[in-house]
Amino acid sequence: MEFVSQKTLCILKPDALSRDLEDAIAEKLMAAGLQILARKEMLLSYAQAEAFYAVHKDRAFFEELCTYISSGPIVVQVLSGVEAVSKYRTLMGATNPDQAEPGTIRGDFGQSLSLNTVHGSDSLENAEKEIAFFFDPQDFYI
Ligand code: ATP
Ligand code: MG
Repeated sequence: MEFVSQKTLCILKPDALSRDLEDAIAEKLMAAGLQILARKEMLLSYAQAEAFYAVHKDRAFFEELCTYISSGPIVVQVLSGVEAVSKYRTLMGATNPDQAEPGTIRGDFGQSLSLNTVHGSDSLENAEKEIAFFFDPQDFYI
């Protein structure tokens, strides 16, 4: 079996920043073999949130999701590593923190379905789109 290095997008949601969890999450990323290639702290407008989460536009929770992600500062990161997309999804844990395993980011830090601390791309194709949404190629090197 061939192991391929991939890039994926990680967002530390407002509840991660308001509770100063960036370093604790970075430790988990590093322990899992995921490297942070690029990082930026930003505040998304509601319109940017709608564009980023367009895939969910028909879901009942869309407005709640966009309101929350634009409610405070976030940190957006490009991660890289072997099988980074699935590796980071596993490390994130289940969407609902109540169902996330201990040791995962959401299992240890998530507070609710909305305040679930992190976002992660769910496929290689979406990772490429999501990275391009936030970063230019010259923002990282590998
Ligand atoms: P993310 O996309 O944030 O990495 P995910 O892929 O595990 O999480 P999605 O199904 O893509 O989950 O949902 C996107 C986000 O919408 C979730 O992270 C969660 O915060 C929110 N969400 C999902 N389902 C619900 C729901 N039923 N009620 C409220 N919020 C929800
Ligand atoms: Mg998702």
